[in-house]
Amino acid sequence: MDQVKKGKLFVISGPSGVGKGTLVNLLRTKYPEIIISTSVTTRNPRPGELSGIHYFFIKKEDFLFRINQGNFLEWTEFAGNYYGTDKNIVELTIEQGHNLLLEIDVKGALQVKKHKSDAILIFIEPPSIEELKSRLFKRETESEQEIYERLSIVKSEIDKKTEFNYCLLNDKLDRAFSDLESIVLKEINATESCK
Ligand code: ADP
Ligand code: 5GP
Repeated sequence: MDQVKKGKLFVISGPSGVGKGTLVNLLRTKYPEIIISTSVTTRNPRPGELSGIHYFFIKKEDFLFRINQGNFLEWTEFAGNYYGTDKNIVELTIEQGHNLLLEIDVKGALQVKKHKSDAILIFIEPPSIEELKSRLFKRETESEQEIYERLSIVKSEIDKKTEFNYCLLNDKLDRAFSDLESIVLKEINATESCK
């Protein structure tokens, strides 16, 4: 019997405010067959965010329990909150042949690479730190203090971009999306080499 061809695992990462969510939403609209992973977090929902859609919002003690149970493929503490990716959901989705995309922070992306060397890591880069700051202030989803906390780690995040398979500059949204689309389609359509 033919085996189901495994799906590809994409990881989109980069500093907070760089446009990951915006790009992923464009991809979701154009390619609804690509599954976008829903992460688990201890952060409070922003207005309009729903549990099970944007994140699974859980209490810190439940998150710590799940770490101990080995539930996460990767997890991180980011700006005072915990975020993680459920291991079983990732395995099942890929085994069933679906392409799956994780939108996670840089530390988490590198953890995924350790466990899943065939994951395709895409780093989204800002045109400048000033522009990043301006996007975060315009988004109005964090306090000034939270924005500076997010900005304080940007340089160290950018330093890690060489560990990614692809780097993509999000200056002009249309061009950045078209670059992302090309990468994703190329990887999905790539034929496996003979082993
Ligand atoms: P992230 O998910 O990486 O934190 P978002 O997707 O929320 O970032 O984008 C942060 C803000 O920047 C949003 O208000 C979004 O509309 C805006 N944005 C995204 N891409 C661009 C771009 N290329 N040019 C200008 N603003 C952008
Ligand atoms: P936000 O609070 O803005 O939704 O997310 C903050 C950061 O956490 C973003 O960089 C986002 O990509 C990242 N993030 C979201 N979910 C996960 C996850 O499951 N794991 C990791 N490592 N980072 C995540």
